[in-house]
Amino acid sequence: MKKALFFVALFIGAIVAIRALTRTAVIPAALSMTGTAAPADRQTRPAYTPHPYYSRTDTARLALPDSVWKKVLPAEVYDVARQGRTERPFTGKYWNSDGTGTYFCAACGNALFRSDAKFTASCGWPSFFQPLRQTSISYRTDLSYGMVRTEVLCGRCGAHLGHLFEDGPPPTGKRFCMNSAVLDFEPSEAQR
Ligand SMILES: [Zn+2]
Repeated sequence: MKKALFFVALFIGAIVAIRALTRTAVIPAALSMTGTAAPADRQTRPAYTPHPYYSRTDTARLALPDSVWKKVLPAEVYDVARQGRTERPFTGKYWNSDGTGTYFCAACGNALFRSDAKFTASCGWPSFFQPLRQTSISYRTDLSYGMVRTEVLCGRCGAHLGHLFEDGPPPTGKRFCMNSAVLDFEPSEAQR
């Protein structure tokens, strides 16, 4: 009889212990579920969140493997910047835009062109007669499609931007024929 009472007491004791343990474990879990800041965070986050290598002030060369670019860039930027694709004429967002401001590399944030060097070109791509700085861009000879062309690359990250032609307006006579997909336009303060 005494033995039976001992086991009943042990059983009750075990239940009490288990309930106490689960209560302490469950309450913090419930708090962490209701206490999450995700909804507020989502509201305050800007539409475009740049990747960790993106900078509008750092001009140091940026050499990243293709696998990283593929992960951090939107597909339409990656296709032009890293695969050298060309967007169809008259389809990009900047081919006929005329706002005052600065154009940045959409892959890395490097400042490329000012709007006062942009001119109306009938080719269907945003066109500029000079870069913002000589080091904003770099050049490479492009022998694709049986032509000899000068490829224009971002001076910081090496992204393919477009091509350079010698049929631009004064004062340079150059036409930097760019893809809108690899440009980010930032209006100047007065335009906002
Ligand atoms: Zn770049």
